Amino acid sequence: MTKLKSVYPLYLNNEAQQPNTDLEVTDKFTGEVAFRCAQADAATIDKGIQGAVEAAEPMAKMAAYERQAVLQHCVDRFKERSEELAYALCVEAGKPIKDSEGEVGRLIDTFRIAAEESVRMTGEVQPLDISPRAKGYQGIWKRVPIGPCSFISPFNFPLNLAAHKIAPALAVGCPFVMKPASRTPLGAIIMGEVLAETNLPKGAFSILPAHREGADLFTEDDRLKLLSFTGSPDVGWALKAKAGKKKVVLELGGNAAVIVDKDADLKDALERVIFGAFYQSGQSCIGVQRIVIHADVYDAFRDMLVAKTKTLVSGNPHDRNTFIGPMISEGEAKRLDHWIEEAIGKGAKLLCGGKREGAMLEATLLENVDPSTKLNVEEAFGPVAFLIKFSSFEEALDIVNDSKFGLQAGIFTRDLFKMFDAWDRLDVGGVVINDVPSYRVDNMPYGGVKDSGLGREGIKFAMEDMTEIRNLVIRRN
Ligand code: NAD
Repeated sequence: MTKLKSVYPLYLNNEAQQPNTDLEVTDKFTGEVAFRCAQADAATIDKGIQGAVEAAEPMAKMAAYERQAVLQHCVDRFKERSEELAYALCVEAGKPIKDSEGEVGRLIDTFRIAAEESVRMTGEVQPLDISPRAKGYQGIWKRVPIGPCSFISPFNFPLNLAAHKIAPALAVGCPFVMKPASRTPLGAIIMGEVLAETNLPKGAFSILPAHREGADLFTEDDRLKLLSFTGSPDVGWALKAKAGKKKVVLELGGNAAVIVDKDADLKDALERVIFGAFYQSGQSCIGVQRIVIHADVYDAFRDMLVAKTKTLVSGNPHDRNTFIGPMISEGEAKRLDHWIEEAIGKGAKLLCGGKREGAMLEATLLENVDPSTKLNVEEAFGPVAFLIKFSSFEEALDIVNDSKFGLQAGIFTRDLFKMFDAWDRLDVGGVVINDVPSYRVDNMPYGGVKDSGLGREGIKFAMEDMTEIRNLVIRRN
């Protein structure tokens, strides 16, 4: 059986270092310390940033095939180490083992896509003779790496969301410093271990779990040219305000909605909505929080949802039958418990679930949730969803849009016209037809509008952010 080491290093300028063992990381199911790892102080982060500055030129000079070889090495090694990676996620994030294996599969996809894209960085030849003034002029533009990047990643997908920053940076030739989430640093640390096996220029990468006082450097230091942050809206927008002149990409939270229209295949929708709402204990930024159901099928679909939810197995994430594992902490589970209480206090009806033990919260469904409650307005980020009834498709679209967030929305319909209406009218980063908003494949453009963020990930889109366009103008006569 796979075992974790008791102590892990950080990676500073491509090398494993063990300045301390400050950070205790718990097994999220047992609550016991699973391992310790080194944390960077401000001086160490400064060295990582300086290393990245010095690596910018040699990284930019790497040939495309050399960058591709580094990414391919990662693909091969992640495949070889997939069991260990999944086990690490299961321990540090409490992510059920099947979902952990799924995330490792996506990690491999993400690096594979980046390996493919790394040899496709193209520009454009552009005729400039649009007026007599420009006769004889021609332009050519290409992309050049933006330079040292700063990455901050969240706890819920410790591998794949770090990968969505690291892989495109390597694909374009940007050095980076990364701060993984302190509650789940191991995924990124193992990625550092694999990257350290390559011949990337010194300083190309630093993976630095960090003390809070050092964390500001990842945002504020002017030597860094781009901040790519994935995490909560409050932290993300606060960091943007401190980011100075650097480009900022924010992948933040949401309270995603799915519409189940009257013509939907309810059986098919059921499986997917249950998955979207409760997968990974609802700790997904595109987890289904609001289930918007047509009045004609509301009662039938509610009964199906409740019956199915009651069958979900919760417990030890290492058990292959477990669908619902612990939330990331007891504090987070308590927070959501209070939100459920608040909603019930304001008239909501609890349909199933609602019980909590430590960090384990039952899969919970409610209806008649007052729009003013936190459960409707804020991001639940746990295994709780509620039902809303609608009568016209227009009304359903308004309900989805009535949110300060806008990441993705899902719609179960067989009507082509409604599909296009929704695509036009929904104020979100992506619309998913006949599946849940929680659907994501790693090459698609992904990100949000409104409070949900700024910019897009999905390898080739992140590569655009991590490059600048450099133009060349030629006067030929
Ligand atoms: P968080 O905001 O608490 O932490 C995210 C990261 O920021 C962590 O590495 C954390 O240590 C760091 N951090 C926190 N405060 C900081 C500060 N002042 N300076 C520098 N770094 C700081 O988020 P979380 O709880 O880890 O993750 C959950 C949130 O992430 C949810 O809101 C979820 O919706 C969002 N999320 C968004 C996406 C997306 O792609 N849009 C994906 C996954 C998660």
